[in-house]
Amino acid sequence: MTRRSAVAAGAARPLEALLAARPRHALVHAPTPIESLARTAARLSLGALDVKRDDCTGLVGGGNKARKLEFLIGDALAQRATCLITSGAVQSNHVRQTAGAAARVGLRCEAVLVRRVPVRTVAYESSGNVLLSRLLGASLHWADAPGDAPAMIDRVRAGAEGRGERPYVVGFGGSTPVGTLGYVECAREIVAHERAAGRTYDHVLVATGSGGTLAGLALGFALAGREAPLLGISVLDPEAEKHRAHVLGLAADAAAALGASFDARAARVEVDASCVGEGYGLYGAAVRDAIAIAAAEGLLLDPVYTGKAFAGLLRAAERGTIRAGDRVLFLHTGGLPGLFGYAADFAPPTSSRAPAVPT
Ligand SMILES: *Cc1c(COP(=O)(O)O)cnc(C)c1O
Repeated sequence: MTRRSAVAAGAARPLEALLAARPRHALVHAPTPIESLARTAARLSLGALDVKRDDCTGLVGGGNKARKLEFLIGDALAQRATCLITSGAVQSNHVRQTAGAAARVGLRCEAVLVRRVPVRTVAYESSGNVLLSRLLGASLHWADAPGDAPAMIDRVRAGAEGRGERPYVVGFGGSTPVGTLGYVECAREIVAHERAAGRTYDHVLVATGSGGTLAGLALGFALAGREAPLLGISVLDPEAEKHRAHVLGLAADAAAALGASFDARAARVEVDASCVGEGYGLYGAAVRDAIAIAAAEGLLLDPVYTGKAFAGLLRAAERGTIRAGDRVLFLHTGGLPGLFGYAADFAPPTSSRAPAVPT
């Protein structure tokens, strides 16, 4: 009770205490570094364009799911689980990182890979995250349509229970209230960085898919009393308001899991769904351009998440949502292995000296 009132007052220490009270298993190299993209900032007339490198969280190639998995693995171990069951798209970073976390703590991992993206190349179905998830020992099950996944997850779970296992099901993208706490922790790192620097970013931008990353940041900023805007670039849901409501609901549920409260009306969270394009896992010229611009300053992005989010940043700067002189923090959520699933798109054998790319 005393904790709750202290958090409501916006004190930073009790937030640490609240997070510390949750079961958690250390997996993340934190705090992740923050770097500046000076040339891209100048090109966009920004005061600063900094990148928080959550692609460098350390676990099996990095990415945002590692932070959620610290709390999810803590919860699974507290429940004495013997195996993790999860699901994702074929090139799922979440499945890769879940497989890695399970391997780290000695749990078995089973994953349902859903063919939700209309890409059927050999690279897409066997390289990148698929290759790494297999290497990490995950048992992979294939669903031909998103509608098939729930029944398949139930079957995998029943099979595991039949073998005497205690399965722990990790929800979509790890975006349960418990998984979301990983991004409350990331928000704390950002606020600590801003306090040390003596100034606040005008905008924080991040890709949003299952919503836990954006929800955790929104909650963490609210609990720290940070009021600057947070912009989620949707990569999946084409309905911005619907996704925003989902994110705010998840933030409230995560607050309840912490024993804190969250005032959705006061949250400064926006969702931009204008970069979803043809849908999840599909992209066009704007995303390719964004990937090329970042690469030209030595930063690698992927086409499914961070490339779309960076395209959203470029668009916001063009539209004036982000203004000249603004200081921007882009949260890099990882996803590089997924790029290899789309290798043929990015390395067309146009020159006779280029190696042929099998598709
Ligand atoms: C899962 C993922 C996201 C989206 O995070 P959510 O918490 O699902 O919204 C963004 N970027 C990458 C690389 C991811 O793997």
